[in-house]
Amino acid sequence: MYRAGLIAGLRDLPGLRLGIMGGAFDPIHMAHLVTAQEALAEFSLDQVLFMPAGDPPHKSRRMAPAEFRYLLTEVATASNPKFSVSRYEISRERISYTVDTLEYLAGVVPAGAELFFITGADAVLDILTWKDPVRVLELSTFIAATRPGYDLSRLSGLLESLRSTTVGIVPEARVKVLEVPALAISSSMIRERLLAGKTIRYLVPESVAQFIEKSGHYASAWPGATAGGS
Ligand code: ATP
Ligand code: MG
Repeated sequence: MYRAGLIAGLRDLPGLRLGIMGGAFDPIHMAHLVTAQEALAEFSLDQVLFMPAGDPPHKSRRMAPAEFRYLLTEVATASNPKFSVSRYEISRERISYTVDTLEYLAGVVPAGAELFFITGADAVLDILTWKDPVRVLELSTFIAATRPGYDLSRLSGLLESLRSTTVGIVPEARVKVLEVPALAISSSMIRERLLAGKTIRYLVPESVAQFIEKSGHYASAWPGATAGGS
């Protein structure tokens, strides 16, 4: 049975340690992969499940279609037996917030499994704006990866401010900072380079660069579109 994109053999593993790497992946790049790999190794995870976000209902910037972003993610992770990709968010009709996705995953993993939600420093610093951040931290341990240009010194203050709204958990204890090799790569930068006709070689896996080139995505701007990221 297809279950959440979990690799066969892990679906019933007691004590499964499952990493989840969420993002738009528009497109996936080397820093996503390095971050996932570091999290896998440092936290002894059994698998990292990449979770491309669905298409937003109101597009502030035109994103590449979810199916295309999903395929790029599959291509990028194909050679790593510990990486897999989930269609869960892209196949939902309504936007899936992280808390919804984690509730779903918590319901399909074997009893005793632990969920680890992997983010870069920018994403974790936004945590107070997320839907139900306390529940998110109850459902998963956060792995907050360092990212060039983002300073994690604000993090402990943010987590402390959540403390008054929690009962069972200590937010600070649910977020682990992970030093990853600094790569100043972003999807926005990849899109800008493609628009400008510059090479993206070695910034994304070779197979991803080829797939993008073949598809023609990102080669021209959509009317009113900006290359800005989230
Ligand atoms: P965009 O520029 O479009 O926002 P992005 O490069 O930030 O793209 P996302 O899909 O938004 O990519 O990010 C998915 C996850 O990967 C987020 O948690 C983000 O913080 C993390 N991430 C992205 N790039 C890096 C990087 N260079 N170093 C560490 N983490 C990163
Ligand atoms: Mg981003």
